[in-house]
Amino acid sequence: MSLPKHGVVCSRCDFKAGMPEAPVRLHYRLDDGATWDARRETGWCYSCDTVTSIEDLPPIWLVERLLDGSTSGSVEAGEHEGLLKWLRRRKSLPRCLECGSEDNVRLKMGRADETRRIPVLGFRHGCGGMLYVVRTGVRVAWAFDRAPHVYLDEEGRVCEETAGT
Ligand SMILES: [Zn+2]
Ligand SMILES: [Zn+2]
Repeated sequence: MSLPKHGVVCSRCDFKAGMPEAPVRLHYRLDDGATWDARRETGWCYSCDTVTSIEDLPPIWLVERLLDGSTSGSVEAGEHEGLLKWLRRRKSLPRCLECGSEDNVRLKMGRADETRRIPVLGFRHGCGGMLYVVRTGVRVAWAFDRAPHVYLDEEGRVCEETAGT
């Protein structure tokens, strides 16, 4: 499948970066051996000093709600209990998936303006400018079914990467 590639530009300086769009299949590997599909979102990493992918951890309240909604004693309830225990013992904030730093913020995108730029809300670049997501004009063919698998440990550190098949 071919999709337009996006970049991020600053309204004030000449900062330019590619959006972290390359497909990856992300999983957590918990200490008890269970695995969970992990999600990522776009963030700003202060350590990388650019736009990166950061972990999108499921919120505890959501897992509590899932647990309440599952039949007690069922396999599903057991899985949700495992997930909840892990989230409660986890110490790290969401990590940057490039460098592992916890010093990052998630970026919230606004609505596209008349020139189809998408403003990044509530964030200022180091120069004081606003960031915008723009189309680069390049189309890229991503093979989602051949995306690499990346495994994170309980604290969100990359522990294994395997080539996609
Ligand atoms: Zn700037
Ligand atoms: Zn980073």
